[in-house]
Amino acid sequence: MNKQLILALSKGRILDETLPLLADAGIVPAEELSASRKLLFDTNLPDVKLVVIRATDVPTYVQLGAADVGVAGKDVLLEHGAEGLYEPLDLEIAHCKLMTAGVTGAEPQRARRRVATKFTEVARRYYAEQGIQAEVIKLYGAMELAPLMNLADEIVDIVDTGNTLRANGMEPRELIAPISTRLVVNKAAMTMKHDRIKPLVRRLQEAVARRREQASA
Ligand code: AMP
Repeated sequence: MNKQLILALSKGRILDETLPLLADAGIVPAEELSASRKLLFDTNLPDVKLVVIRATDVPTYVQLGAADVGVAGKDVLLEHGAEGLYEPLDLEIAHCKLMTAGVTGAEPQRARRRVATKFTEVARRYYAEQGIQAEVIKLYGAMELAPLMNLADEIVDIVDTGNTLRANGMEPRELIAPISTRLVVNKAAMTMKHDRIKPLVRRLQEAVARRREQASA
């Protein structure tokens, strides 16, 4: 029982790109994930189970040992903090950028800048490092609306193509961090289940390399 491995996967866009990598590393869910309302899944391997949860919950599950291994975006990991987690592998999927953004052509006017974001920890750290006084406002969605509605001068959000910003009269400003999806491992599990986790990391590493080669071919 102790040797059972639980993998926590992020729901949504990351999941679609994670499953082919997992399959290439030899782990396949026993049933179609999207066709089910279940959250805990068996796999082709009797001692490996998957939980499919909100991306922001993945680091918590892994940090506290409810899952041994997790797959989460670097954005979520930066916001959560690295305590109790190893990050042994960049899965090189779901690339995007964590950026500041504002109304196109506008300069932030207030001495103390108002920033709307769901990444409040990242934003606090970033503006402090820049020596900019910032009042950080937590929002759970539709960040692009905040400057238009005069709720904020700037937002901190994920940018991929920039289309969402442009559609709302906004433009990206400063890059905070390039983002991709990472494999995380519970620190205690890395020791206790080393004989299970080490080969899994290696197989995933090989799958990432194969995918990279195919993409550049
Ligand atoms: P875009 O319009 O292409 O710049 O995409 C921006 C929106 O898509 C953001 O507001 C994010 O919510 C979402 N998004 C894009 N890429 C990712 C990603 N890799 N991980 C999570 N969310 C993303």
